Amino acid sequence: MNLRAPEPRGAGTPAGLLHIDWTKCDGRGLCTEILPELLARDDWGYPLAYGYGSAGAGSNVPVPDTLLTAAADAVSLCPRQALTLVDP
Ligand code: SF4
Repeated sequence: MNLRAPEPRGAGTPAGLLHIDWTKCDGRGLCTEILPELLARDDWGYPLAYGYGSAGAGSNVPVPDTLLTAAADAVSLCPRQALTLVDP
């Protein structure tokens, strides 16, 4: 696995949390293409928040306000309805 260092996510409280339900995810990585600032892919293609070392952690990804629209796009475009955007 080759994950980049965590990107700056903006100061203060996140504007939302992107919840990943890995039991629904098919691991094809569309969300990682929409949100490369927040999500990497693990060795099997499943989305993984930067800054977490293994799947099983990082299923609630803090989203800064600058990426809320992109996060909402990822939720609506996820083919497995595996993503939800919730209040922090
Ligand atoms: S878009 Fe949905 S199904 Fe595809 S990798 Fe992301 S969470 Fe999984």
